[in-house]
Amino acid sequence: MSTDCRAAAALLFHIVRRERGLFLRFGWSVLLLFCAGVLRAQPAATPATLLRPAAVFDGQDLHPGWVVVVENDKITAAGPAGKVTPPAGARTLELPGLTLMPGLIEGHSHLLLHPYNETPWNDQVLLESQALRVARATVHAQRTLLAGFTTARDLGTEGAGYTDVGLKQAIDKGIIPGPRLLIATRALVATGSYGPKLATDIDVPQGAQEADGVDGIVRAVREQIGKGADIIKVYADYRWGLNGTAAPTFSQEELTLIVQTARAAGRGVVAHASTPEGMQRATLAGVETIEHGDDGTPEIFKLMKQRGVALCPTVAAGDAISQYRGWKKGQDPVPPRIQQKAQSVQAALKAGVTLVMGGDVGVFAHGDNAREMEQLVQDHGLSPLQVLRQATSGNAQVFHLADRGRIRPGLLADLVAVTGDPTQDVLAVRQVQLVMKGGVLYKQP
Ligand SMILES: [Zn+2]
Repeated sequence: MSTDCRAAAALLFHIVRRERGLFLRFGWSVLLLFCAGVLRAQPAATPATLLRPAAVFDGQDLHPGWVVVVENDKITAAGPAGKVTPPAGARTLELPGLTLMPGLIEGHSHLLLHPYNETPWNDQVLLESQALRVARATVHAQRTLLAGFTTARDLGTEGAGYTDVGLKQAIDKGIIPGPRLLIATRALVATGSYGPKLATDIDVPQGAQEADGVDGIVRAVREQIGKGADIIKVYADYRWGLNGTAAPTFSQEELTLIVQTARAAGRGVVAHASTPEGMQRATLAGVETIEHGDDGTPEIFKLMKQRGVALCPTVAAGDAISQYRGWKKGQDPVPPRIQQKAQSVQAALKAGVTLVMGGDVGVFAHGDNAREMEQLVQDHGLSPLQVLRQATSGNAQVFHLADRGRIRPGLLADLVAVTGDPTQDVLAVRQVQLVMKGGVLYKQP
């Protein structure tokens, strides 16, 4: 009980002796209301922090000489050192030589997967228990956070059921360190279109939920939302059938119904698609982003631009898979698959399609998320500033995360400091010296 409450109790004791009847009627409620008010007015005092880096990248531009103030879990001030007055008692964190920027946002990860050159995808789905996969995922979450990615859009558990829901809860409750997660849970595939596949006589558990037709689709989307899906992921095409070529899966009507059902519950839909037809159906259905888009054409990107659909090219995943298959990057000729992807990315850029920064992490190691940013600069000609904007304010906008992605008063104190200037040198994003999420320091110099 606080001092104020004790004083109030003493006062009430006097009143009780004089006005016993009145007290019995009103006294206790007055005391309770008073104490409740006192408790509300005294939140746990957390000291403010003034961060003083060499420069601040605010999600849009670089500002040398800026400082940032954090109180509790929010940014409360950002601006030139001379114009920002920190609150009394604020501690100062000197960050000489470092650039402070918003926590990076991974656009496409699978925390429940680990690199395919360690264990092929089929074997992860069929041979690894959920306990093993979740245990790994907790480590993946920590590595992602310490690499400077304070938010991740995790696009499917690939056969690990709804374990991403518990993983997200464990992070949010502070039980394990990890990024804030947007989760897709099981993801949706048309019957027969996904894997793993063994002999035709054997049915095995699949890497996503099969659903078809009006009733099946509506039920599956609602089931996933009910279990905790923030977003619905759908495979609009996939390599299916004996020849293993990518072909559309769901019909236009089915895709449209998926989007309508998700949207009615306030959820967006993302589509895995690499064929022009799969990409077109997904775009017309109203998905928010298309993942991969390997065989995108100028026509389909024009349509995506018109409909405001963003592309997450996941260049790092295709690059990693080609290397797992023996491509010696830098020595061997560029494989046709990689050349095709490069053409697709160029066509998307030319059409003015918004790019999402997301690498399909899990195909390659968690914590190595910056690989996508590096390759977009080194292999696809984007500027470091372009990819840095994508990984912060850009992804925040596409994912409807108005509370992060920039350094601005009122936003979440999700901050990362790196050595050097990442707006000039993309490799600087590897030099993470400080990671703060919601005002809590997970790493500091
Ligand atoms: Zn993926």
